[in-house]
Amino acid sequence: MFKKILIANRGEIALRIQRACREMGIKSVVVYSTADRDAKYVKLADEAVCIGPPPSAQSYLNMPAIISTAEVTDAEAIHPGYGFLSENADFAERVEQSGFTFIGPTPESIRMMGDKVSAKQAMIKAGVPCVPGSEGALPEDPKEIVRIAREIKYPVIIKAAGGGGGRGMRVVHTEAALLHAVQTTRAEAGAAFGNSAVYMEKFLEHPRHVEIQVLADQHKNAVWLGERDCSMQRRHQKIIEEAPAPGIARRIIERVGERCSAACKRIGYRGAGTFEFLYEDGEFYFIEMNTRVQVEHPVTELVTGIDIVQMQIRVAANEKLPFTQKSIEMRGHAIECRINAEDPYVFTPSPGRITLWHAPGGPGVRVDSHAYTNYYVPPNYDSMIGKIIVHGDNRAQALARMRTALSETVVEGIQTNIPLHRELMVDAKFVEGGTTIHYLEGWLAQHRR
Ligand code: ADP
Repeated sequence: MFKKILIANRGEIALRIQRACREMGIKSVVVYSTADRDAKYVKLADEAVCIGPPPSAQSYLNMPAIISTAEVTDAEAIHPGYGFLSENADFAERVEQSGFTFIGPTPESIRMMGDKVSAKQAMIKAGVPCVPGSEGALPEDPKEIVRIAREIKYPVIIKAAGGGGGRGMRVVHTEAALLHAVQTTRAEAGAAFGNSAVYMEKFLEHPRHVEIQVLADQHKNAVWLGERDCSMQRRHQKIIEEAPAPGIARRIIERVGERCSAACKRIGYRGAGTFEFLYEDGEFYFIEMNTRVQVEHPVTELVTGIDIVQMQIRVAANEKLPFTQKSIEMRGHAIECRINAEDPYVFTPSPGRITLWHAPGGPGVRVDSHAYTNYYVPPNYDSMIGKIIVHGDNRAQALARMRTALSETVVEGIQTNIPLHRELMVDAKFVEGGTTIHYLEGWLAQHRR
């Protein structure tokens, strides 16, 4: 096992990784920007090294600074967390070339999944169900493009092969709008992602977002750890996640889960990963794979009892997975609310000093947050300041626990989306379960004040 790991991230996930290291008896090195100088996990770290000023490009995305910090601190491995450099194949490659272990999949896997066209082709080969669409990138020939769209049937969606973060997509409802949409998406994709390849898919009109968590080691073992429903989204940003997904038959989930772990074995995947699907009318459709730990991993940890971050570290150190698919048991129901420093209804960011922070507690309540009273939320990064995660014997108990937890939580000095979560936890449709990815936007439009 590693003696020392460098954490190339910030905020709650830096703290989460640090906790995993502590429990495993591994020393941690934290890198930080001047904006995060006072963060508690920085003070708690075995070693902390300032790598630059607040802008991410000069700190958390600064590969030479991060790798040379690993060198001078004698760290053996680098955990990238999520966001920042976590899905950057060049970074993973440079980490390994410099003699360190990258806690994640191989650069080849990251590259394959980072290009959505090659990801989809690999999934089709592995028997993972995908959204019907073009075979690979769209050709230049306009007649061909029109033919493909007719075959798929409108509405269709044009997506950039290199897209991410909900950008580089365009929905097309009629043939008259098709070629112009393809042209514009191509131009935007070229400018934004340096790759103008686009592809076409059937546009699903009322899907849910359901994803499968996988874990794979370097000894040809791969398992899936159930699913998460992340349909509560605004502008493609998830705000509530839960496991299991309400109202989907276990045999349908099992079929797709088995396909995901088989795909991992087939492509030689290692580490933690997530297969994201749209789910509509009883069918799963693969949209993309994330080759890193996800924000919402705790809901899976609570229902399976498996520490996903520790597993990432173990398989990176070449250990075998300590369980088989058969021995994984799912228990109860878990829900996560992301706490963002923002106006709860207009969503403008609300950075600044937290004058009072009181976290909830009690049975089945977990809080993953780096915030505390007097913590200054810097304006330079993502607005998420923590997550409240609850576990119950069933969904009703989990909901009740989340309502209690939210009622106990106090954050003063800045605005947060806690009032929104309080309303959603008693919303009849959410309580019923199974809302689509458009539900929250519709709800917000109705409740806009
Ligand atoms: P990104 O990497 O930018 O997040 P995804 O491929 O994961 O891109 O898609 C992001 C979101 O766009 C999905 O969660 C869904 O809301 C919407 N979307 C993508 N593909 C389709 C599709 N074929 N039909 C309907 N909605 C889609």
